[in-house]
Amino acid sequence: MFAKQQAIIIETEAEPVSIHDLDQYRGVWIFAEQRSGRFPAVVYQLLGKGRELADNLGESLSAIVIGTDMQKEVEALPGYGADTVYYVDHPLCATFNEDIYINILVDLIRKYKPEIVLAGATSLGRSLIPGVATILETGLTADCTGLEIDPENRLLLQTRPAYGEQIMATIICPHRRPQMATVRSNVLKKPAFNPNARGEVVSLNIEVERIPRRTELVEHNSEGGESDYLADARIVVSGGRGLKEGKNFELLQRLAKLLGGAVGASRAAVDAEWIPYRHQVGQTGKIVNPRLYMAFGISGALQHVVGMESSDIIVAVNKDRHAPIFDIATYGIEGDLFEVIPALIKRLEGEN
Ligand SMILES: Cc1cc2nc3c(=O)[nH]c(=O)nc-3n(C[C@H](O)[C@H](O)[C@H](O)COP(=O)(O)OP(=O)(O)OC[C@H]3O[C@@H](n4cnc5c(N)ncnc54)[C@H](O)[C@@H]3O)c2cc1C
Repeated sequence: MFAKQQAIIIETEAEPVSIHDLDQYRGVWIFAEQRSGRFPAVVYQLLGKGRELADNLGESLSAIVIGTDMQKEVEALPGYGADTVYYVDHPLCATFNEDIYINILVDLIRKYKPEIVLAGATSLGRSLIPGVATILETGLTADCTGLEIDPENRLLLQTRPAYGEQIMATIICPHRRPQMATVRSNVLKKPAFNPNARGEVVSLNIEVERIPRRTELVEHNSEGGESDYLADARIVVSGGRGLKEGKNFELLQRLAKLLGGAVGASRAAVDAEWIPYRHQVGQTGKIVNPRLYMAFGISGALQHVVGMESSDIIVAVNKDRHAPIFDIATYGIEGDLFEVIPALIKRLEGEN
């Protein structure tokens, strides 16, 4: 039986030596990443948690946005809990450039000295935040699933699965600042929008063109791009070992397209190299939270279920009536997916 236990507290720093004047660091920051000028759901989820942490500390919550032409989106962030939004608006910031983003974030953290910096454990966050933490010589806990404040010493308790994901470890960063963590999408709740909330937007004028950069974006290729939005998709159509071979994922892709959804997969399908890892749903893949999740030929192993069980409606198609996926399904179809999927496609194509 898969069991999770609370582990001992681990420090992110090898040497218990403070190189930072800890008292200078105040407040909670979240890095509000953007894709094509829009914030992914994890940004709002981080704002909700950031608000709670800031309130527990008696400090303010700030969001940092690096992008361009996003005034309207930026002005909405106080409604989700931000007291201050620092906004760097520059055409060179439209898409992610590691050198530019790291440089800006490091400079702003050095200037404003937040005690906590949180970001999404997205592909962008995973690429950006370790570079920032390394330059700042501070600790970073990746892929957190829980964050709390220790009331005794104001430390951020950063919880994440560890040791083969069998236990939960709580990690602290007692001697360096800021305390940094990335958080997986959909493990936190998005706060309700408060139209009466007041907050300040601070536009920062940075000479971005003067920042040395080693790479230029030549072209943006969106091949397989829908998987980037898997964590935020409203409809997810997933396949498992029951699909039998990789080419049968084409059936799922057609169904997903007709429904306006994204394609997900079990680890068995990913391990068989039928579909790339970025589509994997579950404990070691993405956590999804759609309105509708359809599972075709997926047995419902616990490691898959933890990645999709919070979906509003779960439809499972499996030819084994005892498959555990039926225990959590809203609607279950005992049947052959090779009959059910073509029938659904035919019906949906008939409607279009
Ligand atoms: C540390 C760890 C982390 C893991 N992380 C993940 C993770 O992130 N995500 C994940 O998915 N798994 C993960 N796993 C693996 C997980 O335990 C399961 O092995 C995996 O989810 C099984 O995938 P599956 O349901 O596709 O395959 P199976 O368990 O083999 O199920 C296939 C299902 O297809 C059904 N079927 C077959 N043919 C048809 C048909 N024609 N029509 C309808 N139904 C059919 C069968 O009845 C069966 O129920 C992890 C395991 C470990 C140990």
